[in-house]
Amino acid sequence: MEYSLKLAHLYGDLLNTYGDIGNILTLQYYAKQMDVELAVKVVSLNTPFKADDYDMFFFGGGQDYEQMIVSKDIQDKKQGLTDFIEDGGPGLAICGGYQLLGKYYIGADGQKISGISALPHYTNSQDNNRFIGDITIKNEGSGDVYHGFENHNGVTYLGKGERPLGTVISGHGNNGEDDGEGAIYNNIFCSYFHGPILARNGELAKKMLLTALKRKYPDADFSKQEALEIKPTY
Ligand code: GLN
Repeated sequence: MEYSLKLAHLYGDLLNTYGDIGNILTLQYYAKQMDVELAVKVVSLNTPFKADDYDMFFFGGGQDYEQMIVSKDIQDKKQGLTDFIEDGGPGLAICGGYQLLGKYYIGADGQKISGISALPHYTNSQDNNRFIGDITIKNEGSGDVYHGFENHNGVTYLGKGERPLGTVISGHGNNGEDDGEGAIYNNIFCSYFHGPILARNGELAKKMLLTALKRKYPDADFSKQEALEIKPTY
């Protein structure tokens, strides 16, 4: 392989529900086709995250119990993650990971769980309700339509500098009120989509890999990688 990238799988041993590991397998699948060796390292409790050590990250979802453990530990990674995000590093955060990158999250039994405020959104809880089911959204920038499955109690409201990943065509999205689903902030993509999101929406995987490549190899020509055709998998 001509190129190499390093991905940090944040708390991959704790936040790993709904087969979201498939996002990493999908990145590896496309990376290979793009002549990229993608190395993956789980970065979990008591392990520092240094912005310069990684080219991209994946942060999955989980239950409130695991999220509470992660909430405490991730405060030590706040600086490294914030530096990485502000420098334009690409990342994908799903469900619980999405919530923890933001300001806070209210768990299903009312406890407030701190995020790292790297992104300005916040998440409240719904009383005795979850948003569960198939969901389709449209990304207003590219016109891409993304398909997935949502399952969350949290209702998320975006802040300054964030725009939704897409407009809800069918399903609930961030909060069931404003038609937005997920968030984009710099080169960070957040979503409630399981499925996993990248396996069903390969264009997004390609976008993340290209962003990481161009950032690490600013002088290289990636026209071959840009031309990679992604076939719909739904
Ligand atoms: N516990 C969170 C919620 O229900 C996150 C769920 C998840 O990561 N699947 O909102």
